[in-house]
Amino acid sequence: MAEIIDGKSIAEDVVAKVKQGAAALSQTGVVPGLAVVLVGEDPASQVYVAFKSRRAKECGFHSVQHTLPVDTDEDTLVKLIEELNVDKAIHGILVQLPLPAHIDAGRIIQTISPDKDVDGFHFINVGKLGTGELGTAFVPCTPAGAMLMLERVRGKDLSGLNAVVIGRSNIVGKPMANLLLAANATVTIAHSRTSDLPAIARTADILVAAVGRPEMVRGDWVKPGATVIDVGINRIPAPEKGEGKTRLVGDVAFAEASEKAGAITPVPGGVGPMTIAMLMANTLTSACRSAGIEPPV
Ligand code: NDP
Repeated sequence: MAEIIDGKSIAEDVVAKVKQGAAALSQTGVVPGLAVVLVGEDPASQVYVAFKSRRAKECGFHSVQHTLPVDTDEDTLVKLIEELNVDKAIHGILVQLPLPAHIDAGRIIQTISPDKDVDGFHFINVGKLGTGELGTAFVPCTPAGAMLMLERVRGKDLSGLNAVVIGRSNIVGKPMANLLLAANATVTIAHSRTSDLPAIARTADILVAAVGRPEMVRGDWVKPGATVIDVGINRIPAPEKGEGKTRLVGDVAFAEASEKAGAITPVPGGVGPMTIAMLMANTLTSACRSAGIEPPV
C-alpha cells in the first residue's frame, strides 16, 4: 500500500512557518497585508474567500476583504486594484475567480502589480516561472503546494525521473510542468487530445492529475512505486450517505491507485489544503521582498 502524503499536516507546517516569519517581520514594523477581492455572491467563491481571510488573520496578517456587487463594472474593479497596487499596507492582491461574465478577467489579472500578484497569474510571473527565474517569481499556489508535497517523498532534485502532468491549464497543469522541469524531471504534458493516455501515464515516476474528471486515472495507469499527486476536486453523488448527499473525489481512483503507487495524495486532505497555505507563504514572501528581507518559507 502506498504512503499517504498528508496535505493537511504539510499545510499546517507551512502555516506555522508563515506565522513565525510574519511575527519576526512585524518586529521590523512591516505587517504582511493581503487584500482579497470578491465580485458577486457565488457561494463557492464566498466560502474560498472566507477561508483565505481567516487563514490570513491566523497568520497575523493585515487582512482586507473587498466584496463588490455582481453588477460592478470593469473600470470600477480596475480602479480598486490600482488603489491596492499603491497601498503600502498591502503586499498581496487576490481577485477571486471566476469573475462575472461581463468583466474581462485577463485585463483584471494584468492590472494587478506583478510584485503583489500572489496568485502568480500575471504575465511577468508566468514568464519568470517559464524562464526559471524562481527566486523573484510568484508561483501559482496549487502547483507550488503540490511540489512541496512531492518534495517530502522525492526530495528537491528530480533528476532522472519521468513526470507526466495530465492537464494543461494556466492555473495548474502548465505551471506544474514548469516546476517539475525546474526540478530536473523529464516532463510530459498530456491533455484531452493526447492519444493512449494510460500508456503515457504508465511511464511516470511522478504522475500529476489536474483534469477535473472524477476518478479518471485508474489503478492500471500507475507505474508500480510511482508518486501520484491528485489535484482534482470533484463532487459526486453519494447515495450511500443518504438521499441528495455528495462526496469529494479526486481525478485518481484512489483505492486502485494506492495499490500500485509508492506514495499518493488523498482527496480531500491532499493538495486542497496546500493551496491556501501557499497563498499565505506567497504573501509573506511579498512582504519580505518589500522590506528587503530574505523570505523564511
Ligand atoms: P481546467 O478545466 O482548466 O483544465 C483541465 C485540463 O484537463 C485541460 O487541460 C484539459 O485538456 C484536460 N482534460 C480534460 N479532459 C481530459 C481527458 N479526458 N483526458 C486528458 N485530459 C483531459 O481545470 P483546472 O486545471 O483548473 O483544474 C483541474 C482540477 O484541479 C479540477 O478538478 C479542479 O477542481 C482542481 N483544482 C484544485 C485546486 C486545489 O486547490 N487542489 C485548485 C485548482 C484546481 P484540454 O486543455 O485539451 O481541454
